[in-house]
Amino acid sequence: MGIVRLLDEETINQIAAGEVVERPSSIVKELVENAVDSKASAITVEMKEGGIRYLRVTDNGCGIAAEDVPNVFLRHATSKIRAKEDLECIQSLGFRGEALASIAAVSRVELLTKREEDLLGTRYVINGGVQEDCSEAGCPNGTTLIVRDVFYNVPARKKFLRSAATEGGYITELMYRLAVSHPEISFSFLNQGRTALYTAGNGNLHDAIYAVYGREIASNLIPVEGKYDGFSVEGFIGKPAIARGNRANENYFVNGRYVQSRILNRAIEEAYKPHIMQHKFPFTCLMLRFDPQRIDINVHPSKLEVRFEQQEFVYEQIYHTLSAALRAFMSVPEVRLTDEIPVVREMAPPPEIFETKRREEYVQKQQELFVAESPSYAAAPASPVQMTFPLKTETYRIIGQLFHTYWLLEVDNQLYLIDQHAAHEKILYERMVDAYRKKEVLSQQISPPIIVSLSPREVEAYVRYQERFAALGFLVEPFGGNEYALSAVPADLYRLSEKEMFCSLLDQLVETPVFGPADAILEQIASMSCKAAVKGNTKLSEHEARHLVEELMTLENPFHCPHGRPVIITMSKYEIEKKFKRIL
Ligand code: ADP
Ligand code: MG
Repeated sequence: MGIVRLLDEETINQIAAGEVVERPSSIVKELVENAVDSKASAITVEMKEGGIRYLRVTDNGCGIAAEDVPNVFLRHATSKIRAKEDLECIQSLGFRGEALASIAAVSRVELLTKREEDLLGTRYVINGGVQEDCSEAGCPNGTTLIVRDVFYNVPARKKFLRSAATEGGYITELMYRLAVSHPEISFSFLNQGRTALYTAGNGNLHDAIYAVYGREIASNLIPVEGKYDGFSVEGFIGKPAIARGNRANENYFVNGRYVQSRILNRAIEEAYKPHIMQHKFPFTCLMLRFDPQRIDINVHPSKLEVRFEQQEFVYEQIYHTLSAALRAFMSVPEVRLTDEIPVVREMAPPPEIFETKRREEYVQKQQELFVAESPSYAAAPASPVQMTFPLKTETYRIIGQLFHTYWLLEVDNQLYLIDQHAAHEKILYERMVDAYRKKEVLSQQISPPIIVSLSPREVEAYVRYQERFAALGFLVEPFGGNEYALSAVPADLYRLSEKEMFCSLLDQLVETPVFGPADAILEQIASMSCKAAVKGNTKLSEHEARHLVEELMTLENPFHCPHGRPVIITMSKYEIEKKFKRIL
């Protein structure tokens, strides 16, 4: 007898579930997509313990007929397509008919559903793929799905779940996206019984963005619109001032579906390139509508991937539409912020450190700024001098500044070239690390306090890292709703706008959570120092330069910045003389 067997239904479902249900957030995605497909006008999502223990999705949509109920939990049971031809023109979010079967295979599921035309609804319970109850029940029109104990029967998968906070974070993130992807639906999201998100569902995308991302983002948007052969785009993109340190705010939806696409990310980021700093990512909320025949969403069971029939065309159109919108916004009379004056771009302090109202003023001042004495390395209170790097004032001579960026020093028989930005960064970094280690961080009071409005995601990150913020010298207090009052910041970074300092640190923490020992925060300190440090292409007075050099020379290792780039390069008298062929 042969050894090949067909797997039983339960095993098949568990294996297949692995593709659809990776973590609790995948369940939320599938259930909300079903609710959207049911033509609901209101959807409530509730989670407890990061969704691992409890998830509930309730909609007021069309409901499921009693006789269909057991079938919806069968693999490949769907009401959305009938024949393979339908795959060519999918209008709904679902179509594979496997989400409910997959979810039921790896958790305990309770379904309550009723159609408007029915007097009574249905209650159905299915645990680990095994039906436990199917009975008539009184319930409101629409559908509620409760999912408990995700992966309770698949320990191998459960092991790979992260903490409730992390899993909950994924769900929160997803809810933001789902809520803005359908402004015509009112979304409520409850976390541990607390409302974390609510949208009105009035069909206005701007209102939905406001509800999800808060006032600051909502008041810094540029509308975009475009129609092309086979697809269209409309929505909003953020002004460069609200660019953030991670991609979390790069939203786009294809036919109402949240997808990930490298083509779209690239088109967006290319368009922003002339306007924002490196490692900054814009806010976007773009609704793309494609002729369903021109895209393929059936690439992977999770339906997160999409293929475009003409990807270069899509890339080009999105890139040009966004570029044009940004150029129109950026074009302040008299100043051309174009590639012809690259120096402006390089020397410009991050535009986002300025309030919107100060931006125009700032853009106009740029060229003057470039030649005039600029905000520069202010004489800092001298820190205790440890002359570990033995270089006394009388042993070097400052020759001057080169290219507005490098300082030339004569030191014995050496020529030193010091990068002023790297030097300042290094100094700030060492001061901060030293103070942080000794728990002697100095705060600088801000009065009156600055009010920052945070998105729900940022609030979450702030609450999680509260102690680290305090340890770094931030004093932050809740100011009602999503607003926080910033009343002190780390003293050594005073050149940086206080808000920028706080928000960029928050961004990094949203992007790369920090675990473990306090030292893990050093990476953050390094990048804060980089942002606070005087830029290249900035004129410094000799007095300022002397101060910078003097402090640099007190450091144990003045030669490398915290990112490992050189701060000082040297050339010996010998090398120079060789070059001039004075010696052979
Ligand atoms: P798909 O969405 O791909 O069709 P699912 O397994 O997600 O597959 O759902 C199976 C079927 O169950 C759907 O086709 C739909 O008929 C029904 N269904 C699921 N959720 C709902 C809901 N919230 N409201 C109405 N019908 C639903
Ligand atoms: Mg579905």
